[in-house]
Amino acid sequence: MTEHARLSPSGCDRWSTCTASVALIDKLHLEGEIGDRESSEWSAEGTVAHEVREMCLKYGLDPHHFVGAVISADGFTYTVDDEMAGHLQPGIDWVRQHTGQPHVEIRVDVSSWLPGQFGTCDTGWLSHLLSTTTLYISDLKYGMGVPVDAVGTKQLRIYALGIWEFLGRPQVDKIVLNIDQPRAGGMKFWEITLDELLAFGEEMKAVYAKIESGDVEFKPSHKGCRWCPVKDLVGGCAARNKWLLEMFVELLVRLLTGKDVDGIEITPERRWHIVKHAPDIRAWLAKQHEESLTAAINGTPDPGSKAVAGDLGDRYFRDGKKAEGLLVDALGEKAYKPRQLIGIGEIEKLVKPGRKKQGHPETWEKLLKLVDRPQGKPKLVPADHLRPALGPIEDAFDDLD
Ligand code: SF4
Repeated sequence: MTEHARLSPSGCDRWSTCTASVALIDKLHLEGEIGDRESSEWSAEGTVAHEVREMCLKYGLDPHHFVGAVISADGFTYTVDDEMAGHLQPGIDWVRQHTGQPHVEIRVDVSSWLPGQFGTCDTGWLSHLLSTTTLYISDLKYGMGVPVDAVGTKQLRIYALGIWEFLGRPQVDKIVLNIDQPRAGGMKFWEITLDELLAFGEEMKAVYAKIESGDVEFKPSHKGCRWCPVKDLVGGCAARNKWLLEMFVELLVRLLTGKDVDGIEITPERRWHIVKHAPDIRAWLAKQHEESLTAAINGTPDPGSKAVAGDLGDRYFRDGKKAEGLLVDALGEKAYKPRQLIGIGEIEKLVKPGRKKQGHPETWEKLLKLVDRPQGKPKLVPADHLRPALGPIEDAFDDLD
């Protein structure tokens, strides 16, 4: 087994669709074009959250026992606070509702489907309730940027294969896959059968055979390219550039000429395809802009362009204290903006009681009764998204004579 899983579970959305990316990334690694992903303060925070969760589940502790603890991860130091403890507790409670002995941070070997490959599964266990045997997989995702759906998750299905193997290939009635993403959607679930899991395992075997035999293709996709290091290189990934450019050009020609490209009509299907990938197109355009500007600043402008000084920024006082004194002398209280309440997140930090923080329990109770949330604006998602579809908006005047 190699130490670095080429076909890692977390990269499955990429390598199982864009099979050619595997050899390309290997080559770029060898040539020093890409290194290991650099850790950031955010990824270190995620590592700390995983460590706290692991110790809680292994030693019967609660996250609040760690509040105030200083933990180092990936070169960063993080002090566990009430906020992190509050985020971790519901997922830990859910695991404890189903088992007293989960397997935690288990290295799983998935060689039976992907020879030589392995991964680390946050939590897995087998539960026997009445006559039903269930295999549970629970994965913490501490990030708050991109909500990850449990339905369709390839990463957790690979973990499920590994845990199933680790447990001696038991007969199970169902498999519950859980993503615990406290800062982006909370607890998410997907239930599948063992047959469905094993069919997925066969799909992965076929993908592996293609990668090994060199029968591969570049296949850009939103999920596949999202974490791919090739797209971040200067110039990006040729296959992805082409894919995005085609979508973009098609739209642009139509906007400029009012005509379809090569008679291709923008059908509802095509429109959704473009809308679905709009974030990729926007990010890609921003990257082109950044690279073009860098080239111009470095003295090799793209033909037809040049870099000039930007517009002046907002005005500011070089000596804030002195300016404040002058203004107060002249205007008194009018020198200040009207007072504003702090935000609810800040209020939660200061007022909500915690294990190691007294807070203001009575005020917090009363405030909770005053908190409300407006309904969010309708948003477009893929048809297989978990939330039910909105019905047509009824005309409020229909019933009026
Ligand atoms: S950026 Fe996308 S298309 Fe290009 S190699 Fe990576 S996954 Fe494949």
